[in-house]
Amino acid sequence: MKKKFICHLMNGTPTNSNLVPTSEHFICLKILADECHLFRYILKCKRCGQIYFFEFYEVIDWVAGNDPQYSTYIPISTIKEAEKLNTKSSFELCYVTPRLQDDWGAKDTVKNVKWVR
Ligand SMILES: [Zn+2]
Repeated sequence: MKKKFICHLMNGTPTNSNLVPTSEHFICLKILADECHLFRYILKCKRCGQIYFFEFYEVIDWVAGNDPQYSTYIPISTIKEAEKLNTKSSFELCYVTPRLQDDWGAKDTVKNVKWVR
């Protein structure tokens, strides 16, 4: 059964700046991973209290320095759910829906923000 989430970030569109998550939207509840190019946090929306599993992942291609970056926000109901997601690889997280992707590629001039449902 799909759960319903009420966060304002769920209702944005790519042209709606509401959708673009920033640190101003969240408080960090727990740090799950804090490595050089991989960060995983449990975040809580300041407005509505919705919690998210968050991953930031930077692909190192050793070329120009402007490496592709991927930010994933997965709305969750419990901290336990986040700890379960934390056992998955970055690749496996690509199969979890719904999730908010905030990606930036080396060739992009703007961020590519979208919901994957
Ligand atoms: Zn919210």
